[in-house]
Amino acid sequence: MLLALARAKINLALEVRGRRPDGYHEIVTVLQSIELADVLTFAPAEGGLFLEVSGEPVPKANNLVLRAAECLRQATGYRGGAFIRLQKNIPVAAGLGGGSADAAATLVALNRLWRLGCPEEFLERLGAEIGVDIPFCLRGGTALGRGRGDELTSLPSLPALGVLLVKPFYGLATAAVYQEFDLHLHPPRYPAEEVTHWLYKGEWRLAVKSGGNMLEEVVFRRHPELRRLKEELLVAGAFYAGLSGTGPTLFALFPSWEEALDKAPVFAAQGWRVWVTTTARRGIRLFRGENDA
Ligand code: ATP
Repeated sequence: MLLALARAKINLALEVRGRRPDGYHEIVTVLQSIELADVLTFAPAEGGLFLEVSGEPVPKANNLVLRAAECLRQATGYRGGAFIRLQKNIPVAAGLGGGSADAAATLVALNRLWRLGCPEEFLERLGAEIGVDIPFCLRGGTALGRGRGDELTSLPSLPALGVLLVKPFYGLATAAVYQEFDLHLHPPRYPAEEVTHWLYKGEWRLAVKSGGNMLEEVVFRRHPELRRLKEELLVAGAFYAGLSGTGPTLFALFPSWEEALDKAPVFAAQGWRVWVTTTARRGIRLFRGENDA
């Protein structure tokens, strides 16, 4: 039996540079793993793939876990199956890449469980065919993503900062946010370049403070309560507060986990869903069951 932690991501910066002929958007983003993670277990099974889900509600049909498992079987010709349990802790359709994290964990864990011996680069390429955030979830830490966000360069790590995640009870569909973005003109901004510049200089405070997300404006226009929330998170003393991915989750960065925790009750009392976590240096973590050979 194998257990995997599938960590969520936040976007410290996200620039949209235009549309691509393949229908995706050309983006430049700085991705950061956080310790908030789904927990998956994997055991061998004859023939089929079986999935059990608990926690945050997510459909079993078309689940990215099963898609990743199926793609790995097809790409390698492996015939065996697996029992997979997914304990969903990462909120769904939240801009935190939870589905991608689960797919990434599935590729890594089944590669081990089925003794396929696929190299990391192979899993990254396969992951990119399933979802653009999957290569980052496999790699983890802090990285610059270009192209669809899946052409990765690892960046110097941040120290373990406190992360307060604040989310409304609704979710947002990634495609709908990009469609809305395309209806408006946007002045060019380069927060990802700035964050990257300061990370290479070793100035992590300046790096996180120069973050920004070009999708915020369209999301805030439709959901003005999120604009106010961002302002309140900054007033609460966050180094930075902003939308993660296409939202609707906002994240706020604090010097430590304790300080993020300290600020959480105010936002929970206002009726938001809140999570307190820290930045992480890795994406997927695998643990082997005791009875494993
Ligand atoms: P991204 O920012 O990568 O677009 P997200 O964090 O906004 O993703 P996810 O939670 O990954 O959103 O879910 C996006 C969609 O994928 C949802 O509509 C959900 O039903 C579907 N989905 C399929 N499998 C999963 C999974 N294992 N976990 C979460 N969502 C899943």
